[in-house]
Amino acid sequence: MSNRLYVTTPIYYVNDKPHIGHAYCTILADALGRYTRLNGGETYFLTGTDEHGQKVQQAAEKRGVSPKQHVDELFSAFKDLWPTLECAPDRFIRTTEHAHVGVVQRALWQLHDQGLIEDRTFEGWYCVPDERFWTEKEIVEGKCPDCGRPVTRLQERNWFFLMSRFQQRLIDAVQTGEMAIVPANRANEVLGFLREPLQDLCISRPKSRLSWGIELPFDRDFVAYVWFDALLNYITALAPDLPPPTQDDHQLTKHLLASPMYQKWWPHVTHCLGKDILTTHAVYWPTMLLALGLPVPRRLVTTGWWLMDDAKMSKSIGNVVDPLVLRDTYGPDVMRYFFLREMAVGQDANFSEEAVVRRNNADLANDLGNLLQRVIGMCTRSFDGKIPEAAGTPSFVLADALLYAQRLQSVDAASDFETVAMTASQARLNRTIADTMALTQKLNGVLTADAPFKTVLTDRDAAATTLHHVLQGIVIAAQLLAPVIPAASAEILRRVRAEDGVVRAGVQLLEGPPLFPKHEWKAPVTTPVELPVSTPTELRVTTPTELKVQPGAAEATSGRGLQDFRTGEFRSEQEPSNLVDIDTFSRNQLRVGLVLTAEPVPKSKKLLRLTINLGEETPRQILSGIAETVAPEDLIGKQVLVIANLPPRLMMGMESRGMLLVAEDADGKRVPLHPARDVPNGVLVK
Ligand SMILES: [Zn+2]
Repeated sequence: MSNRLYVTTPIYYVNDKPHIGHAYCTILADALGRYTRLNGGETYFLTGTDEHGQKVQQAAEKRGVSPKQHVDELFSAFKDLWPTLECAPDRFIRTTEHAHVGVVQRALWQLHDQGLIEDRTFEGWYCVPDERFWTEKEIVEGKCPDCGRPVTRLQERNWFFLMSRFQQRLIDAVQTGEMAIVPANRANEVLGFLREPLQDLCISRPKSRLSWGIELPFDRDFVAYVWFDALLNYITALAPDLPPPTQDDHQLTKHLLASPMYQKWWPHVTHCLGKDILTTHAVYWPTMLLALGLPVPRRLVTTGWWLMDDAKMSKSIGNVVDPLVLRDTYGPDVMRYFFLREMAVGQDANFSEEAVVRRNNADLANDLGNLLQRVIGMCTRSFDGKIPEAAGTPSFVLADALLYAQRLQSVDAASDFETVAMTASQARLNRTIADTMALTQKLNGVLTADAPFKTVLTDRDAAATTLHHVLQGIVIAAQLLAPVIPAASAEILRRVRAEDGVVRAGVQLLEGPPLFPKHEWKAPVTTPVELPVSTPTELRVTTPTELKVQPGAAEATSGRGLQDFRTGEFRSEQEPSNLVDIDTFSRNQLRVGLVLTAEPVPKSKKLLRLTINLGEETPRQILSGIAETVAPEDLIGKQVLVIANLPPRLMMGMESRGMLLVAEDADGKRVPLHPARDVPNGVLVK
């Protein structure tokens, strides 16, 4: 397996104002690169701006400036943003660069030479204000389906890329995983799309309609279609010394193959992209590459939407969150942590500022920041501010935490990081982060159990041993979190004076202000908006299903009826159920807990192994038979309802300390229940 990662974001449309979708995707790409380097690999990180097209031309005309002047003034809104979010691209590309124009013209010219681009006359329904064609099927009662204005019949000559020739080759690439698409359901979506005959792609626009673009080298009346132009940026970045095309030298491929950058990085590429541009990346782009005789990209990582009140963030709804406001309020580390911890790559996730505050306060301020503060404080009070010597034997809880830290760092567990950075499987950053944060929770548990602030009076060696090892644990956590919170991680290593990852007895610790100040949740910076009555396709639609709520159904084996959740005994559904009084009911400790980790149980189709924060010192392990209805990564970071005062029981050789509340769907499959909005972990359900 190659330990090289060429990671890209889409090039962002220069006319847009940066929003959290841009910020998330760039932070994701940056973190994937950092995880790869943490794993001993090499990375090359590309982002940039898409600067051609109709809207740029129109906006420039409106301002009375040239399109070039317009984009020159705008691109830095993106370029200058990334360093302030601790994103460090190796190359920022603009599609108006001469190098890029040359690559696009070479690609066009080569495909034209190869007979893979041909001109056709096309007739269709044209919407003049929108400047686009519609097919007979698309128009609605003679009107534009987009703006509702009348359309006119128009003939136009255009250039077409013979994309249809590469349909089978593309299907093979997706099916064999030669081009992996993450998450897997997106690969199925692409294969579904490819079940229909693939059309050829119109790759030109007549200059009479659009002049702000890259001129076709073989027909000066046309410019290139913006996507044909934009996608090639991923290759331009690998061909830095390519001369402009001429009549005698206008091939692309032979120059590329000779470029050391290309040889090093292609096709070890991961394209990060939003799911709205999946078709362009999973169909247009690989067929363009195949036509040029180049390998398809190795991996596409498709991200979901950030939803607000379950609606996609979009300018038209007016619920766009400004990343600059977030950065200035909470700082880039908190923003990065929230994005990467909260969203399972590929799934939609809900954005709320309240959730940002919760993550900051609970995970970063409490579990990590306060942990460091406490330990350094104890060392200051009892050991002259120096790292004490670990002369004693670690307690049981300490040994357990150390073992966990070792596992996180070992080759075995590092497969998680490898997954993140390298492989064609899921990019489970949220899991990686949750696993690392579980270490900080264990270390907090050690401080509570070992109580070195007390034992220091009676057994100084024991207290010293605890503090020394907890500091080492913090250093390990900081190193593993470095791709997510680079600044805080570096600051932790600086204060513990362990930049090389090793904690040394006798070293003077550095005190400092809290790493993550707590925030209070106040009025929203962003205003929640009313949803439109009509349902846009991006909205998540839930099918109403009749749910039968059955406490204990999670662990009830089918056909055995209901399990009495007080006694653990089963009773038949036919028995008349007894009414319970409120006192009896309230003896059940139903509590809300946050799912920290979730993973399948080997050899079990139904069980998931969860660790759940119930507001206690250590998270609980709970096994639940919900694997058929919910993917583990969808559960992580969500709150669930738990029966907390059941005696522990063994399932598949593992201890389950509590039971998840579930409801059965129409097929009898178990569906976990969640609070309608976040509440503190551990609160009672009444
Ligand atoms: Zn229209």
